[in-house]
Amino acid sequence: MSMRIGFIGLGQMGFPMFLNLLGKRLDTNTEMVGYDKSSDHMAGLRRDWPDAAPYLAQDEAALADLDVIITMLPNGAAVRESLLGSADNPALVDRLASNATVIDMSSSSPMDTRALADILAERNVQLLDAPVSGSVPKAREGTLAIMVGGATDIVERMRPIFMAMGSKLIPTGAVGSAHGMKALNNYVYAAGLLAMSEALLLGKALDLDLSVLIDVMNASSGRNVATETKAKQHMLHGGDFKAGFGLRLMAKDLGIAASLREHAGFNPPQLDLCLSLWQQACEQLPPEADNTEIYRYMAARLGAYL
Ligand code: NAD
Repeated sequence: MSMRIGFIGLGQMGFPMFLNLLGKRLDTNTEMVGYDKSSDHMAGLRRDWPDAAPYLAQDEAALADLDVIITMLPNGAAVRESLLGSADNPALVDRLASNATVIDMSSSSPMDTRALADILAERNVQLLDAPVSGSVPKAREGTLAIMVGGATDIVERMRPIFMAMGSKLIPTGAVGSAHGMKALNNYVYAAGLLAMSEALLLGKALDLDLSVLIDVMNASSGRNVATETKAKQHMLHGGDFKAGFGLRLMAKDLGIAASLREHAGFNPPQLDLCLSLWQQACEQLPPEADNTEIYRYMAARLGAYL
């Protein structure tokens, strides 16, 4: 049976995921088409990746008759707009094959995802939410951890697609549950990165060797993904501060986690503080700033030496 898969959003994560899907093309009957709304970015991809160029759409009209559509976009609003259209754009969802499946791999809001699932179901389109964990290196290796919410039979049907991009698939329950878990995971990551940044600034003031401090944390209970994969790799000793995940995307994820308090009926104080610090960093730093820039932002804010 032939299958046509469209991939929308070929950014830092989406493009390597698309390449993995292309490389491990499930069978010869699978057709693939990738699309990003930035025409400059598409031109750069065509130039730098000539082997992938035939699979890159010239325009949005190429996204027709798709059986599966994968979105890897900045947020749920962009996903909604790309599927349901806007004043300038016709609705993509009306051009899909019958019984199509949408897989939103972006980190979107669980409440928006539930609402979108209802709208799509009315048009006979099923939605899975399948955000990823693992950042750009794992997207390149095809070893992402993928959480997935939605109907079990559809998850199982889509499993080969997931396993072309990731090495771990974790079913999380009903549609929207994976986006909820992703937002909460990213809150814990952001809090860890912020705590590590403050600890590094305090350590520097004490004249400690920061490399050894990170070694100590990695051998002790302070270990987290920031101590293991961000500090020495991107932040210390003239680091590049390019870990591949935008500071703005981090603040967006914290905003999603914070929006869950309306459902919970209580206000976790550390989440509030963390969100406020990341939002203030966003206001001060350029739009393309990486999430690891929170360290230099905190240093400037506190008047601390790096
Ligand atoms: P990115 O900004 O690098 O890429 C997003 C791409 O989407 C851009 O190329 C942009 O031009 C395109 N785009 C925006 N709106 C569009 C639309 N309506 N139609 C078509 N294309 C559109 O972002 P990223 O780092 O690849 O992240 C994508 C998603 O994955 C985000 O939701 C992010 O929170 C999540 N995520 C990122 C990482 C990471 O390490 N970067 C890790 C896990 C999850």
